[in-house]
Amino acid sequence: MKVETHKTGEDVFPIISLGWGAQSFALAAMSALGVLPKVAAAVHADTRFERSATYEFAKKWTPWLEEHGIKVVTVRQDRHKTPVMDGWGGVFIPAFTIGEGIKGQLRRQCTYEWKIAPIRRWLQKHRQGRKVELWMGITLDEVRRVRQADVKYINNRYPFLETKFWGGTLMRRSDVTHWLRENLGDDAVPSRSACYFCPYHSKREWRDLRDNGNGDWEKAVEFDIAIRDKRPPYDLFISNDCVPLAELDLSTPEDHGQLSLWDDECEGMCGV
Ligand code: SF4
Repeated sequence: MKVETHKTGEDVFPIISLGWGAQSFALAAMSALGVLPKVAAAVHADTRFERSATYEFAKKWTPWLEEHGIKVVTVRQDRHKTPVMDGWGGVFIPAFTIGEGIKGQLRRQCTYEWKIAPIRRWLQKHRQGRKVELWMGITLDEVRRVRQADVKYINNRYPFLETKFWGGTLMRRSDVTHWLRENLGDDAVPSRSACYFCPYHSKREWRDLRDNGNGDWEKAVEFDIAIRDKRPPYDLFISNDCVPLAELDLSTPEDHGQLSLWDDECEGMCGV
């Protein structure tokens, strides 16, 4: 797919979509250090349900970015402050369900409600008629996530897939984490960012949450119980095995080579 860039001389509003995963943080850090052009801001859509490690990472690195000239903005959804909705009117995550032996998955509404819409509201307020260049931290290994925005005022841009920045090559996730380590140190490589209860977690990610979640696993177990009866007559689960999270078998050998359905930041999947 062709990566679009703006026409020379066009007045644009360059923004990083900052999910606080490795790739989007690297974009912000590279812009801060002059490896990439300066952006007007790095905007984080906080779902309110991020992993505690993500909030800690953001707390640590926001001042550093701002000291280096990158304005960090956090936006949040106005409504749906709780992820557990009653009735049919609420937003919902792509939870799994099973009835009469057939598995299903709810339509994902959370990415739009919690991420895309708040970012777009902020962009509309601040772009002052300019076209937005929305930089996304997508690397070569995730190229399937590249897409064009579905609104004319946004031009999605993928700097890791623009050879002019990298001496004719393209950047993979491992190149990005290597760059972060080399330039900012080991603690500059964040863990994957996602809601602690995201149904896209693989078993490996659930294990990580259980072993290193700092309370997030317990919150996810609680959340899983809370959604169970929200779409009667069938039960809802956040594990795609359709069993309570607390009972999910995580003792099986690592799901060797199984990629997360997730990736890093869900806004990339939807093309903010
Ligand atoms: S991380 Fe998962 S649960 Fe959270 S907004 Fe994205 S898709 Fe929805």
